[in-house]
Amino acid sequence: MSSIALHNVSKSFGAVDVIRDVSVDIDEGEFCVLIGPSGSGKSTLLRIIAGLEPLSHGTITFGGRDVTGLSAKQRDIAMVFQSYALYPQMTVRENMSFALRLAHRPKAEIIEKTDRVAQMLGLEALLERLPRELSGGQRQRVAMGRAIVRDPSAFLFDEPLSNLDAKLRVQVRGEIRDLHSRLGTTSVYVTHDQVEAMTMGQKIVVLRDGRVEQAGKPLELYDTPDSVFVAGFIGSPA
Ligand code: ADP
Ligand code: MG
Repeated sequence: MSSIALHNVSKSFGAVDVIRDVSVDIDEGEFCVLIGPSGSGKSTLLRIIAGLEPLSHGTITFGGRDVTGLSAKQRDIAMVFQSYALYPQMTVRENMSFALRLAHRPKAEIIEKTDRVAQMLGLEALLERLPRELSGGQRQRVAMGRAIVRDPSAFLFDEPLSNLDAKLRVQVRGEIRDLHSRLGTTSVYVTHDQVEAMTMGQKIVVLRDGRVEQAGKPLELYDTPDSVFVAGFIGSPA
């Protein structure tokens, strides 16, 4: 587990500046929400943190260590996507243990870890099923399980609830929060939903056109928005 800091990070695709001079500090163990309208650069910023997208400018440190030049693998963080990205032909157990098998971990450790995380997520009865035999909420839980078994130094979530119906969204939201309070792993969570941001974020970073419009604790943003844009987004009258 480690803190994450972005220093003056910029990213262009060709002539288009998608991320513009972004600096963000995320404390060790903090649950940080990135919020902004569609196209504001949330997914790109998350991919930059993950090491899936090279920077045009700036540096990234984890726990004070410069990781700017390191690959995704070397950064030891886990991503959870909205599309689950489960392997359709693998069982829940195989999906969850995939990274451990790739890393050639001992068999006993793989079984022990997978069982423990499955129990944590209430998936123990579903371990031999295929993804198509699961509900949307269960699939999302498997996707989280797959990230947790790797014991990463941080979790990155890209709108993980957007494929779920409203009722499940509230439920899984609570599960992610519980998980965070149990594991205490540094997390960056992307959403465009202000209720999600306000209820989950210990820190909220508002992105607009690739820039940080404002960053702070939920109540700070709510009580003292720097701009009409933030007020509109977080939901308090300006
Ligand atoms: P968000 O997740 O907030 O909706 P994205 O990070 O996906 O925003 O995209 C931000 C902007 O960057 C958009 O205008 C998008 O079209 C552009 N963009 C994202 N990825 C690429 C890419 N690989 N090539 C060119 N443009 C991209
Ligand atoms: Mg996105």
